[in-house]
Amino acid sequence: MANAAQSPRTTRTVRIGSVPVGGGAAIAVQSMCATKTRDIDATVQQVEQLRCAGAAIVRIAVDNDLEVEALKEIRRQSTATLAVDLQENYRLAVKVGPYVDKIRYNPGHLHHVERHKSVRDKVAWLVDVARDTDCALRIGVNCGSVAPEFLERFPGDQLEAIVQSAAYHCDLMEELGFERFVVSLKDSEPAKVVEANSRFAATRPQVPLHLGVTEAGMPPDGIIKSRLAFEKLLANGIGDTIRVSLTLPNERKHEEVEVGQQIVEDVAAGRFISAPDFGKGLNIISCPSCSRVENEAFVELAQQVRELTRYAAQHRITIAVMGCRVNGPGETDDADLGLWCGPSTVNLKRRGEKVGNFSYEQVLVRLRQELDALIAQRDGHVAA
Ligand code: SF4
Repeated sequence: MANAAQSPRTTRTVRIGSVPVGGGAAIAVQSMCATKTRDIDATVQQVEQLRCAGAAIVRIAVDNDLEVEALKEIRRQSTATLAVDLQENYRLAVKVGPYVDKIRYNPGHLHHVERHKSVRDKVAWLVDVARDTDCALRIGVNCGSVAPEFLERFPGDQLEAIVQSAAYHCDLMEELGFERFVVSLKDSEPAKVVEANSRFAATRPQVPLHLGVTEAGMPPDGIIKSRLAFEKLLANGIGDTIRVSLTLPNERKHEEVEVGQQIVEDVAAGRFISAPDFGKGLNIISCPSCSRVENEAFVELAQQVRELTRYAAQHRITIAVMGCRVNGPGETDDADLGLWCGPSTVNLKRRGEKVGNFSYEQVLVRLRQELDALIAQRDGHVAA
């Protein structure tokens, strides 16, 4: 165990509903629903499950008008502080704003809709919506979906691309006189999360940070990855709200909140984990699932992948398992082997190249073959 004092945080305070984030406020632990947003009963139940576990903010994904209608009813039935996650369709902000306390948009997805409009105009519109509907905003950049112009500007330095993309959006908002926003910079590798957030905090120390290790995967590895990142950052006074993303069945989703609370408590008490060998062998990353998951068999598939690949634990190979076609294709690009789920089939990729589409049962057989081939190739036995 290392011991380190927690540094004071120096960001401004942003109000999300009645929850203060940043400045001297307690670190808010938040979580996200994995239920189908259109299933109102199941989603209200999960919002309450997370709220009762101590989630200060509960996020819901909304992708279309049917889900906006469901959100209205979820809002009516719950007292939780709600955030909404917009993906490709930023225009939904105006429809969800009246029903939530914070809207997250991804700068890497802004170009998908209304290509004739500038990013500046789109951000100005989002700021107007946030002002009119009394919402906070989150600029949520993600390693798997970086805005193309920043990737071009910083070739070979993806971390700088996400840091500068976030900083650019901060500048746009501040030019518009809007300060009610937080920023997140997520990656699936804890070291990159630490580096990206540290660089950003050095350049924009006043902006509150939402910390997350995306696709951390299943416990216990997902917990260790989150701890490795959050401990370093929080101990240095970086991070104002956190979300632990774990691949868990719905009935255990509240564990994300409990793990987050434990990390915050441990850092405050100077308790840190020591995991010197972690990350040297097989690395399975998997998304925490959300309402976009294409088939409910996803969580079970992720667990089966873990069981099937245990024999390869010593090999430094990354396998990514993603729940949907929205983020799955991009987030599996950098993995040695990537799986992303469709409604009835799973897409398998080897180092970014498509291997094929397989049923949920068959994909495990093919995955084993591909993994064997990769190991043999690395051992120099087979020319693949
Ligand atoms: S990969 Fe898809 S299903 Fe998984 S958390 Fe991301 S958006 Fe949701």
